[in-house]
Amino acid sequence: MPPDPPNRPAVETVTIACLHCGKLQEVPRKAQTVTCKHCYKRLELQDVVIPKYEARRAIETLGIVTIEKKGQVIADRIHCGGLIVRGKVKAEITSRGPILVGPEADVIGNVTAPTMAIGAGAVLNGHYEVGRVRATTPPEPTSPEPTSPDPGPQEPTPDEGPIDPEA
Ligand SMILES: [Zn+2]
Repeated sequence: MPPDPPNRPAVETVTIACLHCGKLQEVPRKAQTVTCKHCYKRLELQDVVIPKYEARRAIETLGIVTIEKKGQVIADRIHCGGLIVRGKVKAEITSRGPILVGPEADVIGNVTAPTMAIGAGAVLNGHYEVGRVRATTPPEPTSPEPTSPDPGPQEPTPDEGPIDPEA
């Protein structure tokens, strides 16, 4: 008869990246706060839900920040593992995970996130860096593109010699 596998409660861990130094480390899954093993700063792990108006200096957590429909956050910065905005937020936002912006949400401030999904009708006002590409396009171009008369689809011009790579 094979011995029963030892039924000891192994501590479940999750791998996190420190908000401050970016280094990966394993922490107990159920931990609410941990101290970074590398830079010794405190890291919040729990999710944050904002149901009403809140003014804060900063929200920093590796969990998911949810701003409810009647919630409003005014903060210097939000540094989070993910963000769901159904209400209003004004902050410098850095998210390590996806940002979901609901259809009636307002987001004011610069946003950095790997991915962002925006509902139709959401109001966005800021500078966005989504993904690895550093977007440099201003959010609101002050001058419209110069409208040149569209010549319409053109016949491809025949090759007139070697293609200049500088062209
Ligand atoms: Zn750290």
